[in-house]
Amino acid sequence: MNSVCGFYCTFQRRIPVDEIVRALVLLASLGIQDVPLVQAVDKAPEFKYPRPVVSVAYVVSGEPLIYVVRSSEAFKKAAKGDARQLAATIAHEIMHIQRGAHEGPAYAEELRVLKAFKVGGNALHRVKQAAELFRYDWPNKD
Ligand SMILES: [Zn+2]
Repeated sequence: MNSVCGFYCTFQRRIPVDEIVRALVLLASLGIQDVPLVQAVDKAPEFKYPRPVVSVAYVVSGEPLIYVVRSSEAFKKAAKGDARQLAATIAHEIMHIQRGAHEGPAYAEELRVLKAFKVGGNALHRVKQAAELFRYDWPNKD
């Protein structure tokens, strides 16, 4: 990871930010250490399917890179020291990089991480709902 960061920092002038580092430390505590480069961006592209959503994070197909959105609630919480939601979101995106566009495994993983860090309330509720919605969207289903 250091060599990737060194390359990236040197040639793209990007610096790993504290919020992301906090989230990656949390993921490492769960044994999730094989994490692609995570980059903070100011704004997410607009996704219109299945309904307009404001993304916390996203990946672009074919790129081994996770983008996290600075204006998201999860990022702002991480800035204040609680990176649990950001960590869960990154775990979600890792599943997309490893297993493709299927939301089933991605939300299942996000939910698993939120529960491991004992996140409750609205954050947990929203992900539970999404996980239920995409429950049957699994890569090996067909
Ligand atoms: Zn997803």
